[in-house]
Amino acid sequence: MNERNIDKNRRRALKLAASSVVAIPFGGMLAGAAFAEDLPAVAADDPQGIALKYVADATTAERADKSGTPGADQTCANCQLSTPGDGDQLPCSLFPGKSVAKGGWCSAWAKRA
Ligand code: SF4
Repeated sequence: MNERNIDKNRRRALKLAASSVVAIPFGGMLAGAAFAEDLPAVAADDPQGIALKYVADATTAERADKSGTPGADQTCANCQLSTPGDGDQLPCSLFPGKSVAKGGWCSAWAKRA
């Protein structure tokens, strides 16, 4: 193998490495976007949901003011434990493998930083 071929192979390897570095974060974002839609919603009889007083419609819950946020302003959409997204459902770290309603709420609500 001559030096010209080595340079060509090196260039090819560097291009591949650079495109991988760029592609990985975008791939992760796309996977996250599709992920929330694919997750089943937390059911009304979900034991974890019952324990945390989860409701899909926050307006039906008695929400006390917390961390300077009035109860009426607390929803899964602005909770630290949810992953922001465009759909109506969001992943929540307290309900792995499931999704919560953007307009939902539970007693573990925490102000998003
Ligand atoms: Fe919604 Fe936050 Fe409770 Fe998860 S922890 S269900 S995002 S209020």
